[in-house]
Amino acid sequence: MQIQLLPSSFDAQGNANAAQRLTCFVIDDRVTVDAGSIGIALNESQRRTIRDVVVTHPHMDHIASLPIFVDDLFSELRQPVRIHATDEVIELLKADVFNDTVYPKFDELKNDHGLVMEYVPFPLGKEFQVAHLRFTAIAVNHIVPTVGLLVSDDKTTVAFSSDTAETEELWRVVNDAQRLNALFIEASFPDSMEALAKASKHLTPSMLREELHKLNHNGMDILAVHLKPAYREKVIHELKELGIDKLRVMEPGRIYEW
Ligand SMILES: [Zn+2]
Ligand SMILES: [Zn+2]
Repeated sequence: MQIQLLPSSFDAQGNANAAQRLTCFVIDDRVTVDAGSIGIALNESQRRTIRDVVVTHPHMDHIASLPIFVDDLFSELRQPVRIHATDEVIELLKADVFNDTVYPKFDELKNDHGLVMEYVPFPLGKEFQVAHLRFTAIAVNHIVPTVGLLVSDDKTTVAFSSDTAETEELWRVVNDAQRLNALFIEASFPDSMEALAKASKHLTPSMLREELHKLNHNGMDILAVHLKPAYREKVIHELKELGIDKLRVMEPGRIYEW
């Protein structure tokens, strides 16, 4: 399984840098988890092959350029872009994003080949298939309805915390999985901002360490994501201080493989 965190920050020459402002993970150039930078940072080949988008929650940093992605592809789509999310999140996307005010209701629009976008609801706690991948979605502890995800193919299993403060059920489901090759876990704020992290339902490095104590798996790669750019260096320093083996900050643009 190949996973890339799309870059979302660029200099004036268009070169990507490490600051992560938006969240969009590309899996096997076929499916994305969230869509923050999907409309601005895919390569041409990925634009042609990605037709399934799994949305963990409707916060702007996770869906910002999803409308642009569908818009750009409008006339060339031979199949709809499928937006996979819980019923709750789909209702929020319909009400607040694809509402004919912020952007068109693309799920009602067709090109010469048919519908251009389709909502595909998934249940919580039950496995569902997206392309060649098996997903299980678990509600996590964020300020809007949000899911963490367990994702498997025949060989590899990975987990995404999405945005969350302390949580329990996700780790129970992850612990039930036969294996865990990699965990993508958020680390938004430095320890000194724990009050804000708790109010906005995010993790600090110290909170992340407590979450890892709930995991029974060992030896997997742990990739910290969602570091707020303003505190990035501080959070990186505090993550290093934890001294946790295999804990790294995920580099946008790099392709990781398990
Ligand atoms: Zn969020
Ligand atoms: Zn976020």
